[in-house]
Amino acid sequence: MGLKKLVAGNWKMHGLSNDLDEVKAIATAAAVYPAVDVALCVPAILVERAARAVPGFAIGGQDVHHAEKGAHTGCTSALMLLDAGASLTIVGHSERREAQRESDSEVKAKAEAALSVGLGVILCVGESLEVRDGGGAVAAVMQQLDGSLPDDIDGEAELAVAYEPIWAIGTGKIPTESEISEMHAAIRARLRERYGDAGSGIRILYGGSVKSSNAAEIFAIRDVDGALVGGASLKNQDFVPIVAAAAAVSGK
Ligand code: PEP
Repeated sequence: MGLKKLVAGNWKMHGLSNDLDEVKAIATAAAVYPAVDVALCVPAILVERAARAVPGFAIGGQDVHHAEKGAHTGCTSALMLLDAGASLTIVGHSERREAQRESDSEVKAKAEAALSVGLGVILCVGESLEVRDGGGAVAAVMQQLDGSLPDDIDGEAELAVAYEPIWAIGTGKIPTESEISEMHAAIRARLRERYGDAGSGIRILYGGSVKSSNAAEIFAIRDVDGALVGGASLKNQDFVPIVAAAAAVSGK
């Protein structure tokens, strides 16, 4: 039997107080699908209000600083996110790897900082179109994994990996079924090499232009244990059908 699917929304820099109604609507609708884990990663400033609005529903951050505390103006520590009510955080999203020039070692330190306080982690990896076209996608993602996976995953908090080809994010383009399948199998093998049996229990999400129209097809691919969803997670009517598709593939 496959792993329980996780469908996580990444709101990126979207969301004001008014949008808490959308968080509530999503949490209410998602409760109908207990066979799927659902989470929303909202802007840091909304985490506390979102978590208070939907007790028991998983609210996450989108990034975390690797240090416990200190002179890091504008940054958010793992403990701050946890204290605000988050239960998980994204790390290493390609938009941060690119715009903030985050390195693999920095992403690894962020993942370790989050896990150490009990925050679940969705660690993102993914290749550019240039690398994909050059035939180096799997090698590039393996290199990212080698550099950014945390050393220790023995704690309570869960590590998940999101495969997000950069060229598929927000573009409406998605890799073929065999490209997704090849990459997820390679990630699974690397996780097993790295963590032994525990590597089989790490959820591998696909991310990049997931919508209600393609979700069922993507979820049916072996080793796709869920999705990280950007644009289609902002509205209940777009996001919940993706959760429903995950539930249907899980036979629930
Ligand atoms: C993302 O940025 O994590 C993402 C998957 O975005 P989208 O679903 O909009 O492609």
